[in-house]
Amino acid sequence: MRKEFNFDLSTLNTFRMKVRCACYVEYSSVEELASLDLDSLPGPIKHIGGGSNLLFTSDYPGTILHSAIRYIKYVDLGLDEVPVVVGAGVVWDSLVEELCSHGLWGAENLSLIPGEVGAAAVQNIGAYGVEIKDLVSGVSCFDLQEKRPCKFTVGQCGYGYRESMFKESGGRYVITSVLLRVSRKPRPRLEYKGLEGIDASSPAAVREAVISIRRSKLPDPEELGSAGSFFKNPVVSAAAFVRLCDAVPGESVPHYVLDNGFVKVPAAWLIDRCGFKGEREGGAQVYERQPLVIVNASGDALPGDVLELERRIVATVHEKFGVTLSPEVEHI
Ligand SMILES: Cc1cc2nc3c(=O)[nH]c(=O)nc-3n(C[C@H](O)[C@H](O)[C@H](O)COP(=O)(O)OP(=O)(O)OC[C@H]3O[C@@H](n4cnc5c(N)ncnc54)[C@H](O)[C@@H]3O)c2cc1C
Repeated sequence: MRKEFNFDLSTLNTFRMKVRCACYVEYSSVEELASLDLDSLPGPIKHIGGGSNLLFTSDYPGTILHSAIRYIKYVDLGLDEVPVVVGAGVVWDSLVEELCSHGLWGAENLSLIPGEVGAAAVQNIGAYGVEIKDLVSGVSCFDLQEKRPCKFTVGQCGYGYRESMFKESGGRYVITSVLLRVSRKPRPRLEYKGLEGIDASSPAAVREAVISIRRSKLPDPEELGSAGSFFKNPVVSAAAFVRLCDAVPGESVPHYVLDNGFVKVPAAWLIDRCGFKGEREGGAQVYERQPLVIVNASGDALPGDVLELERRIVATVHEKFGVTLSPEVEHI
């Protein structure tokens, strides 16, 4: 177990914000986590993974917990549906790479998503028509309230679009491992726009195609700090959608009508139409290739730069289209 005080978090958030926490604890087993006297640590307690969906808005006054539970256990490689138990601290993309190299199908469309396995199951990560919930069978946790291990079936995880019961629980459950099921039988999922016609002869081939598409669109966190999509795609009423269209007469607004009659509009389009592509605020910038992403362009952007750019985008989109954007990235 590693415990440090006044700890530098700049390599533990992909936005590369230079912030510190009062205390940092990294544990490598459920037993170590269970042995922690949380009440003796500076509060509040926050568990993080790779910090790729977070914006630290200042130094953190409490304790940051981080999992170094890192194992990948194939329960029975002889089955068609192979159960795999994975420690929460495993880097998600290294797991995908390994599964693909074993010829196991299921996770390849989720290639190159930053972060760790525990958080992937919290966030219900998704890309190219697949979500992690399609692979999850069960989740093992440590209940910080009851101070004991517990398990959930996938049905109990409350999965929805980037949603889960874990997110709603306010940090009560620390995920310690995830049980996934991957397939020996070919199971390519190529319906999503952009994947038609790619080489789908193996999961590794699909992974390669997904990586190449992602690299052309999204910043590489190793080179340019960001937390991926900064805003959620807003869902508006039919009447609000008509008002939105009235703001851009003669133009067709990209949209998707949901089953309940509400309309989902791409936030990237709204931000782009407000002229924000490439816009800067201090060291922060709206990414040129994808306006949904805010990047740490200078490498030393301050949290305040990102917050000010966010504020301007939200205000301008609201003024022009009457739609209020909300952040996808968790502010801490
Ligand atoms: C360039 C880029 C591209 C991205 N593309 C995608 C994409 O295509 N699809 C997508 O879905 N997301 C995408 N993301 C967002 C991000 O990668 C995911 O949300 C990812 O799952 C976050 O993982 P993390 O380990 O970094 O978690 P963090 O950001 O550290 O934490 C996320 C949340 O999970 C909680 N948490 C972390 N670990 C645990 C644990 N063990 N137990 C309980 N709670 C925990 C944290 O408290 C926090 O609330 C992208 C991000 C970047 C930077």
